[in-house]
Amino acid sequence: MQQSPGHPSHDDDWAQTLRAKGLRATAQRMAVLEFLHHHPHTDAEAIFQAVRCSLPTISLQAVHLIVLDLSGKGLIRRISLPDSASARYETRIEDNHHHIQCIRCGRIEDVDCIVGHAPCLEPHDNHGMRIIEASIVFRGVCQSCDAEFEEKDEHL
Ligand SMILES: [Zn+2]
Ligand SMILES: [Zn+2]
Repeated sequence: MQQSPGHPSHDDDWAQTLRAKGLRATAQRMAVLEFLHHHPHTDAEAIFQAVRCSLPTISLQAVHLIVLDLSGKGLIRRISLPDSASARYETRIEDNHHHIQCIRCGRIEDVDCIVGHAPCLEPHDNHGMRIIEASIVFRGVCQSCDAEFEEKDEHL
């Protein structure tokens, strides 16, 4: 798992991080941050299923609102990928990194940025649109999917 040194990983640090952004350090927000920190690239539904074990009163709607708040304040990053129906979130926000996704099983991994800053953020022609982000998504086939495919191939 990709973890940057010095990134908060327990409740006190999350509480500080939240307060620094003017958000109340609620148990629900801290649970979402802590879960995402250890399970990057998860969607609201998966976060909900995981945190409801320790927070039985939390609702899926509450998780949607929390990830909206947290990404709005820049505490987490929202990722939308072509092969995922729902938006994914992660706490790795301090760098510009990209994602690689397996087109068969949907597995997502981080890919470090090659140039170190966001690419092509200022196109020559924005067609009148306000640019929010420019993202790069590498699409591929992971080793286990490749192996599975080769196995099937042998039996044809
Ligand atoms: Zn795969
Ligand atoms: Zn990532």
